[in-house]
Amino acid sequence: MTTDLPMPRVGPVAAHAPKPMRIVLNWGRRYSLWVFNFGLACCAIEFIAASMARHDFIRLGVIPFAPGPRQADLMVVSGTVTDKMAPSIRRLYDQMPEPKYVISFGACSNSGGPYWDSYSVTKGVDQLIPVDVYVPGCPPRPEALLHGIITLQDAIAAESPGRARRDSGRTVSAGSVRRGLLRRPAKGE
Ligand code: SF4
Repeated sequence: MTTDLPMPRVGPVAAHAPKPMRIVLNWGRRYSLWVFNFGLACCAIEFIAASMARHDFIRLGVIPFAPGPRQADLMVVSGTVTDKMAPSIRRLYDQMPEPKYVISFGACSNSGGPYWDSYSVTKGVDQLIPVDVYVPGCPPRPEALLHGIITLQDAIAAESPGRARRDSGRTVSAGSVRRGLLRRPAKGE
């Protein structure tokens, strides 16, 4: 038996917080990003490299690895997103509490990458969930992820604590993230 709990949200009063309080809240958010790595292919190895001692993204305030999506602030999608995996990505994103952020890491996650014309590959994870920062490359170097994280942190510093997500009110659920199979080509096509 499962019980649906209400999604934790930032209270409406937070939107009217005075500026000094907003600065403190955003400072806390940008430097305590519990990260959840949705690793799907080769780019995930570069993500792991970025978390190791040489590149050490903990010094930027990124904390690996959240025990699960319910404890995460940031999802990094790294690798090839397939239509079969799409409902799982959406489901785990839905389980993250607000405020939540997404980095799309690598060409596959951004647009399908080298497999953009495959029948089974989703042409960008932003078809499923809102993306805050895109990191280009195949694969991007760990330094590129560090740059993406800093870009995201700059955006967090400027946001309102009670911000509405671009997909707020979106009714799409994990179950609805499905595409039909391609039809069989007709003779001569
Ligand atoms: S972008 Fe390149 S390196 Fe990254 S998952 Fe796709 S094929 Fe692999």
